[in-house]
Amino acid sequence: MIDFFQILNHLSIGAIILDRDLKVIFWNRWITEHSMVNFEDVLGQKIKEIFPKLAPKGFLKKAREVIKSGKPAFFNNKLHRNMFPFMSVRSYLNRHLEPMEQTIILSPMKNDNGVTDSILISIFDISDWVIYQNDLLKSKAELEKLSRTDDLTQVPNRRNILNKLFEEMITHKRKKRPLSMAVIDIDHFKKFNDTFGHQCGDNILHEMAQFISGRLRDYDILGRYGGEEFLLILPETTGEQAFQVCDRLRQTLAEKVFTYDDRRLTITISIGVSCMNAGEVIAMDELFKEADRCLFIAKDDGRNKTVIKSEYCCFN
Ligand code: GH3
Ligand code: MG
Ligand code: MG
Repeated sequence: MIDFFQILNHLSIGAIILDRDLKVIFWNRWITEHSMVNFEDVLGQKIKEIFPKLAPKGFLKKAREVIKSGKPAFFNNKLHRNMFPFMSVRSYLNRHLEPMEQTIILSPMKNDNGVTDSILISIFDISDWVIYQNDLLKSKAELEKLSRTDDLTQVPNRRNILNKLFEEMITHKRKKRPLSMAVIDIDHFKKFNDTFGHQCGDNILHEMAQFISGRLRDYDILGRYGGEEFLLILPETTGEQAFQVCDRLRQTLAEKVFTYDDRRLTITISIGVSCMNAGEVIAMDELFKEADRCLFIAKDDGRNKTVIKSEYCCFN
């Protein structure tokens, strides 16, 4: 007959057996290694005296319930990260010693009469798994951010800004609030590149996007639509308000002096604005086309201008 305790000693999980008064009947070698306490030295001692921090964590209450009900119980690592004060070698992280992440199962043990009179506590060290999972989640979040952000300007990229516009159109419809959008295009940017070089142009694109983003209201969103063209979403904003916001941006930008390689440089932008009044329904591509039409007029009218259809704005 194989010795039952010998089997437990060879397991690479922690195993503690407690009697109905929650006194230690046995613990395996794994527990000795992690607690630095020999089983013989704690035999018959109450578990709460050996690990005083178990009580405030609700361990004793749950253990008593298991004995009473005869049903197993479980401590989720997300709620109870370091129930037993053990450390663990993080092989995944240059072999650091850190508080052990644990999953714990309390199993009722029946005696020969079929009565639960002891309890087996199984302790699983899931530290590597938790770190690995956290790293994966972090990488996933970073990748998601990268896939949504334009590399050069660090504002939402085309796909992202179009998604956001789509979402805002749904909100506009549901909440019956106005919604405006604008297409922003840098004036004579080809010439700018030809004169100062593509690198300088790249730098200005980044600085300009950051400059505009930094001056928006919290709920406005700027995204790079492509090349030197940007899309600005102005939720809950009437045409008149959108015109004012955009024209102020246009003016401030025209006054801004950028520096690159000791050069002092300025740029101007032209802006086409379109909007939907509260309750008005316009298809997304129509809203876009309208902003584009206005942008074309702004360019045709000499550039460094903001244009919106006159029926939407009396300043126009
Ligand atoms: P307009 O005032 O009519 O808008 O003139 P424009 O020269 O800005 O317009 P056009 O569309 O002819 O040229 C856009 C230029 O923007 C062409 C391209 O060199 C430049 N451009 C587009 N994307 C980038 C970029 O990522 N980096 C740099 N440096 N330039 C870019
Ligand atoms: Mg341009
Ligand atoms: Mg363009």
